[in-house]
Amino acid sequence: MSTLISYSPRTGEEIGRYIDSSAEQVQEAVARAQIGAKHWQAIGFGGRKAILKQWAALIGSRMDEIAELIAAETGKPKSDAMLEISLTLSHLSWAAKKAPRYLGTSRRAPGILLANMSAKVEHVPYGVVGVIGPWNYPIFTPMGSIAYALAAGNAVVFKPSEFTPGVGHWLGETFNQVAPNANVFFVVTGGAETGVALTHSAINKLAFTGSTATAKKVAAACATRMIPVVLECGGTDPAIIDADADIARAAENVLWGAMSNAGQTCIGMERVYVHEAVADQFIAQIVAMGSELKAGVNYGPATMPSQLKVIDAHIQDAAQRGATFLLGSASSVQPPFVEPTIITDLAEESLAISEETFGPTLTITRVASMADAIAKSNASKYGLGASVWSKRNGQTIASQLECGMVSINSVIAFAGVSTLPFGGTKDSGYGRIHGPEGLREFTYMRSVVGPIFNLPITFTTFKRSAFADKVVKNASKFLAR
Ligand code: NAD
Repeated sequence: MSTLISYSPRTGEEIGRYIDSSAEQVQEAVARAQIGAKHWQAIGFGGRKAILKQWAALIGSRMDEIAELIAAETGKPKSDAMLEISLTLSHLSWAAKKAPRYLGTSRRAPGILLANMSAKVEHVPYGVVGVIGPWNYPIFTPMGSIAYALAAGNAVVFKPSEFTPGVGHWLGETFNQVAPNANVFFVVTGGAETGVALTHSAINKLAFTGSTATAKKVAAACATRMIPVVLECGGTDPAIIDADADIARAAENVLWGAMSNAGQTCIGMERVYVHEAVADQFIAQIVAMGSELKAGVNYGPATMPSQLKVIDAHIQDAAQRGATFLLGSASSVQPPFVEPTIITDLAEESLAISEETFGPTLTITRVASMADAIAKSNASKYGLGASVWSKRNGQTIASQLECGMVSINSVIAFAGVSTLPFGGTKDSGYGRIHGPEGLREFTYMRSVVGPIFNLPITFTTFKRSAFADKVVKNASKFLAR
């Protein structure tokens, strides 16, 4: 049996050993999940809610333990891990509680031609949902799919990132404690090959969170068997600062949105477009606060060592283009850490603006108008989230942005609101997790009709009469009005 070793990104030391799951092991987990899914559906919303609430309570009671494991595997401060867990628990509890409300059968009007029929829509779980997750928020991010898929009545086979297998394994163990041998939630640790095996297995739906490049491969693999996918990918989220913004609050929040978790946040801000009237004030404040930050204290190292090359390439590209480093320098990458880096005077086609950096870096561009800020924000190939700062125009600006989520006078807030769908557009992916839409993402719709009483005339048999044809004609004229 091959082994997957988990290393500390801070020290390089080994933290744990897990199974590097083979294609056969993945297939076996999926086959058992297919059996478990039937029972899981049969116990109904109430039965599932009871188990998912017990799971949430168990995770909550062992928060310190899992926070330490998250901190060890990702390198992030433990307090950040605690925040991540509490957001996860709020989603898990919400999904368990609200599934009956949003997935219950709904009645529909049958229309005049079929007025004798009852019409309804049922939301049917797919069966087995494969979940493939990244390492940056190793509990929060995959649970956005796992919790909602389970609450909707599916069994789940989860492939955590090869950089955080311990967190994935822990989730599997704790679920098994509240529902022993239920065959409902499986964790298959392993690398990319294990993920590939999951995309080729007998799953009924796949939820992927990770890079756009991998998402395209995953979607292509699933397309060959018409397996539907939900894809949560990267972004280069903008922060737009209008002339009437509360500059102190904007600077403080955007700095955190860009640098926390060492910038390894899909919905982290990577580029600022600030109105020229307040640009000097904004720059002075964000640079002053940023200079207080310490890599390794306020945030951890790059969790995935190869990302340091990407971050460095973006910084070198900026340096070669003659950009101004307001904070940090061309030598900001000091493995395994990256110094907080703020860059200005940079062309829109530079790597730091056009590609996802995924490091504690931020670009600042002065704009003459909000129309220019909106156009530049929308020029990105990504469309995940955005942050808008304005006392009067927040909603007006937000409504013109081509992205899935916007925080007005705040950052990242949408991720913590369980009732809101989470996801993006363009290269940031499609489909939604979280909220009612996130529950429905893990079901397909079944429309059901049946007669409440039989009419004396018939439209859908070969016995349709001339009189019935006349009724159809008159009804059609009425409908076309
Ligand atoms: P990644 O694409 O390298 O890997 C993601 C997962 O896919 C891993 O578990 C990996 O083992 C697996 N994988 C790799 N190749 C595969 C293949 N061919 N088939 C199936 N599975 C395969 O991404 P990452 O580096 O782990 O995560 C960082 C990325 O995730 C960033 O781009 C970030 O923006 C994005 N992200 C998005 C969201 C969101 O909700 N939109 C949340 C967190 C992270």
